Amino acid sequence: MKPYPIHCVSIVIPVYNEQQSLPELLRRTQAACAQQPHDFEIVLVDDGSRDNSAQILQEAAERDDSPIVAVILNRNYGQHAAIMAGFEQCKGDVVITLDADLQNPPEAIPRLVTLAEQGYDVIGTVRSNRQDSAWRRWPSKLINLAVKRSTGVAMTDYGCMLRAYRRTIVDTMLACRERSTFIPILANSFARYTTEVPVDHAERVHGDSKYSPMRLINLMFDLITCMTTTPLRLLSIIGFSMALLGALFAVLLIVLRLMFGAHWAGQGTFVLFAVLFVFTGGQFIGMGLLGEYLGRMYSDVRARPRFFIEKIVRSSTEVAAERLDISASPHLSKAVR
Ligand code: UDP
Ligand code: MG
Repeated sequence: MKPYPIHCVSIVIPVYNEQQSLPELLRRTQAACAQQPHDFEIVLVDDGSRDNSAQILQEAAERDDSPIVAVILNRNYGQHAAIMAGFEQCKGDVVITLDADLQNPPEAIPRLVTLAEQGYDVIGTVRSNRQDSAWRRWPSKLINLAVKRSTGVAMTDYGCMLRAYRRTIVDTMLACRERSTFIPILANSFARYTTEVPVDHAERVHGDSKYSPMRLINLMFDLITCMTTTPLRLLSIIGFSMALLGALFAVLLIVLRLMFGAHWAGQGTFVLFAVLFVFTGGQFIGMGLLGEYLGRMYSDVRARPRFFIEKIVRSSTEVAAERLDISASPHLSKAVR
């Protein structure tokens, strides 16, 4: 891991009906940013709020020498889409995301910047004393566990949006064409060095969580489909197991029939079960096969960059001779060229 030079830090905050939290959010975030040595900008994305949030942001951004950039979306697109809109507009070498409800403390920003400077690609945070209700805590525990299992990325808390991303990671995420994303996991799929720091977690002071149970379920599916197409493959696995069970059951029936004679067999009722198992299994295998194609199409439609190149090294004489123009390469993200 090599130190990473930083000139500018961007903070990206999605805002949806948060007018009561905004004054304190702006004050505390600016104070925290002033604590770190680099230039900074605070990009606030209004995600179609129905209260005064957009107006407050606009006024804050219009002030002279204001580090605040207000990005106003025309309607509500959801937290992660709003963050993506912020990513598109920010210019920092490190981009830090934050929730507007002050549940994660902006005071942790300087610590994240220091870690990014040391060379980490993605820096997450762990809520050390989580203040959400139990019905909110348990689903997210389950999700964390599932993510760890299926991505193998060792991060413990995906629900906490206070996170720092290096420029190259942000550019690569922007190059992904998928519509529904779960940013922390998307970022991890491009990150090499990741770490986590514990932060305090406060209770939401103003307003309510913007996630109803239905939106939470939607988010969970975004999260699963963002990281894996394994559920599609599960269909084939279930199908194979069912068909196998059916076949074994049939063999067992034949053996028992031979051992105990014709009157044991109950006029073939059980045989019907065995046959049914095999056929249902066959159907599942068919669906799984469709799933395999669908999964591949899905990953093509998403058109995620296959990789990004960190650096290309050539001997200078060769470069002079060939006059290679690497900017023509379609695989490279902007920051790498
Ligand atoms: N948010 C958003 N658009 C939405 C829902 C939420 O921009 O459709 C923002 C919200 O203003 C907040 C952050 O996303 O800054 C997290 O939302 P919330 O605190 O309601 O989520 P929770 O903490 O309950 O997970
Ligand atoms: Mg919150």
